[in-house]
Amino acid sequence: MKIAMIIPPFRYGADPSQWITVPPQGYGGIQWVAATLIDGLLETGCEVLLLGAPGSPPRSGLTVSTAIERDEIRTAIDSFGPAVVHDHSNLAALPLDGQWPVVSTHHLNGVPASLENGVYVSAAQRLKAGSETAPVIRLPVNPERCLFQEEKDDYLLFMGRVSAHKGAYEAAVFAHAANLPLKVAGPAWEPEYLDRMLADYPHTVDYIGEVGGHFRTELIAHAKAILVLSQTSGSPFGGRWAEPGATVVSEAAASGTPVIASNNGCLPEIVPSVGTILPSAPKITATTAKAAMDALPTAHEVLKAAVDQWGHLKIAQEYLTVYERAARGERWT
Ligand code: UDP
Repeated sequence: MKIAMIIPPFRYGADPSQWITVPPQGYGGIQWVAATLIDGLLETGCEVLLLGAPGSPPRSGLTVSTAIERDEIRTAIDSFGPAVVHDHSNLAALPLDGQWPVVSTHHLNGVPASLENGVYVSAAQRLKAGSETAPVIRLPVNPERCLFQEEKDDYLLFMGRVSAHKGAYEAAVFAHAANLPLKVAGPAWEPEYLDRMLADYPHTVDYIGEVGGHFRTELIAHAKAILVLSQTSGSPFGGRWAEPGATVVSEAAASGTPVIASNNGCLPEIVPSVGTILPSAPKITATTAKAAMDALPTAHEVLKAAVDQWGHLKIAQEYLTVYERAARGERWT
């Protein structure tokens, strides 16, 4: 099957002369989702045109388009002639003119630009979007892009945007209570938020900035646990934040690293098989932190759970079923 896949084009913060590629140089959830889904689609014999990530490495079966503007994107899709267009840009990069069957994966909070042929990454996200029957397909992970590590080092990890809605500060509170250092990786676009964490937990937090490449995979693989303590408040996008899909959960699990999460958005749907959900109250103490650490599953258990549920081949098959529905002319909301 021929699939044109569109992601929103973003400039790479550390070097704005580059676009964020697939896979990304550093931070980039949608770019990792596209990379691992493309892995699965290519392995099942599909042909993919990738739009919105110029500079990404092409490979057999994958063509990377340089198109960025909507009319260039239209021309590129027309000359590729796909069976289906898979949009990850909330229609921002896609000229929606009904010429090609479209499947749209929603990656954000709230209601998407169009409900037509939507795919959601969690039941919590679908509910907020106002859809009851559209497919829920989990974010994929390719274990070959992760590093499995059974023996762990003595640190906890936060990896993501260093922002209030992502619960980086709460991760510092937990790590302090657990008496473990917290490595914090990711862009800090709200510097006063990072400064507060560093001022309140100077002996716990080690901020290492945005990471990519081999350093990133090692960092995830060696952590005792990853902290995903997303919060409803503090979203820079407005409204109450409900974690839509949480790419870091499957990446950590596929590296043998268990997850400690808050009860937010998709997290109670996906975390219990690869870690633990903290109670919303009372506040974390040394006792509750120890109890959470002691209850974590083993590295082999979380790897198996990740591959069984979110492996790139399984998720690619689920998308192929949806692509076929769209290509047959089916429409759903
Ligand atoms: N990430 C990274 N380097 C960093 C921080 C984050 O590679 O320094 C990656 C992380 O591994 C994940 C993505 O960026 O793949 C963040 O996606 P997630 O869905 O967890 O968060 P969101 O997209 O909601 O910010």
